[in-house]
Amino acid sequence: MAGIVLGQKRRDVDVEREDVADRVLILDATQTTERVGASGMWTNRNRAIERLFEVCGERVVGGVIRARQSRRRHHAAANLSDDFLPRLGVGRDTLTRLRDAAAARADALAEQQKQLDAARAALEEKRAQLEEMQDAQEQRFATLNQSAIGQQELIAAQEQQLAAQQALVDKLKAAADRLDIAYRGRFDWPERGPFLITQEFGPTRFNAFHTGLDMSYINRCEGPIYAAGDGIVLADGRPNQKYGDWAIGVVIGHSQHLATLYWHLSREIVTVGQEVHVGDVIGYEGATGFATGCHLHFEVQFDGSPQNPRKYLP
Ligand SMILES: [Zn+2]
Repeated sequence: MAGIVLGQKRRDVDVEREDVADRVLILDATQTTERVGASGMWTNRNRAIERLFEVCGERVVGGVIRARQSRRRHHAAANLSDDFLPRLGVGRDTLTRLRDAAAARADALAEQQKQLDAARAALEEKRAQLEEMQDAQEQRFATLNQSAIGQQELIAAQEQQLAAQQALVDKLKAAADRLDIAYRGRFDWPERGPFLITQEFGPTRFNAFHTGLDMSYINRCEGPIYAAGDGIVLADGRPNQKYGDWAIGVVIGHSQHLATLYWHLSREIVTVGQEVHVGDVIGYEGATGFATGCHLHFEVQFDGSPQNPRKYLP
């Protein structure tokens, strides 16, 4: 250890000695240069060295420079404190730069995160909106579907109701038609006892169509006239007066379609709206209106159209 320290000291002394030798050399060179007579160009040290090179030759000055460089290297190896602080400064700068860069990176990351969060929130909102729209659409479809089903059910119900009504109408019509079916024996004769048929239903010799069946009691007038069937009195008095016919007459409705008419009565004993039954006396034979003699004009009408009464009588 002592040997190493001693060696170091010896090298330092050598360096100092060389340095002194260099200074002497430069001093000599300077003095020589001064002697050469160049002046006013010595202010700059490098310029002085250049000048020395010119004056003393490359060998001397080169030797001085090399010696100086060698000493500096030696000095740097012997004592680190010479460039430790600058290095420390550089290190500190680098560290600051790295710290700044890290902070900047963190800021950028935070900004990216913020943007990402915003994008995610926007996406979530959009998704919620879409879901809402979808729900609304589904509900609308459901409502439409329900309404369509409702309509169909309503139509079906109406059709059913109509069908039921139609069936009822058909049934009623069938019942009415059964009631109205023309068959012998349906009505009873409106005159009872000895009487004569004086005029049949249909065309006559007098160029007219006879719409009823005329009958007359034998050897007597004003005999009783009977209702031919059950029914309601639809007309009484002189129903054809407006046509200039003064005949006293009764009309009995037996069903929706069927009616019987009794004309030329001397008098009647029923009134409109009265319910009558087959065989009830409704009035008496006479010769009122267009009648040439005492007789009954008996007429059967189906929907207002005269029918042959014989089809309804026994
Ligand atoms: Zn007649």
